[in-house]
Amino acid sequence: MVDAPSSPPPSAAPKRILIVEDNELNMRLLNDVLEAHGYVTLRTDQGETAIDLARRHRPDLILMDLQLPDISGLEATRRLKADEATRAIPVVAVTAFAMSGDERKARDAGCDGYIPKPIMLKQFLETVEQFVSGGAASA
Ligand code: MN
Repeated sequence: MVDAPSSPPPSAAPKRILIVEDNELNMRLLNDVLEAHGYVTLRTDQGETAIDLARRHRPDLILMDLQLPDISGLEATRRLKADEATRAIPVVAVTAFAMSGDERKARDAGCDGYIPKPIMLKQFLETVEQFVSGGAASA
């Protein structure tokens, strides 16, 4: 397990994070890092399933890969933001090949934040913590 002496102790109720990622190695990395820091994860590699899981479980945060095998992460985000039941859940786009314009597309689709791959762990965890604690709601 990852030794993380600088991370804050988890609050009483663990925060739940839905990871939407179709690359197995990325999924394992994100999952292991989050679990090591006290988060509970839900996981899927499909956009449609992500929407279903979000409706049923109301996670505190959704990490959304933009390139998925069924619907795109952008489309999944649009649907989540169009639905009263899931609109308030922050969605952070996680995407490789951070080309200029990618962040703009993510924002236009309704993503609340943006994390480029490759993942930089410290920045990644700081961003996650901001969103689950509500500190980045309108950033
Ligand atoms: Mn992908």
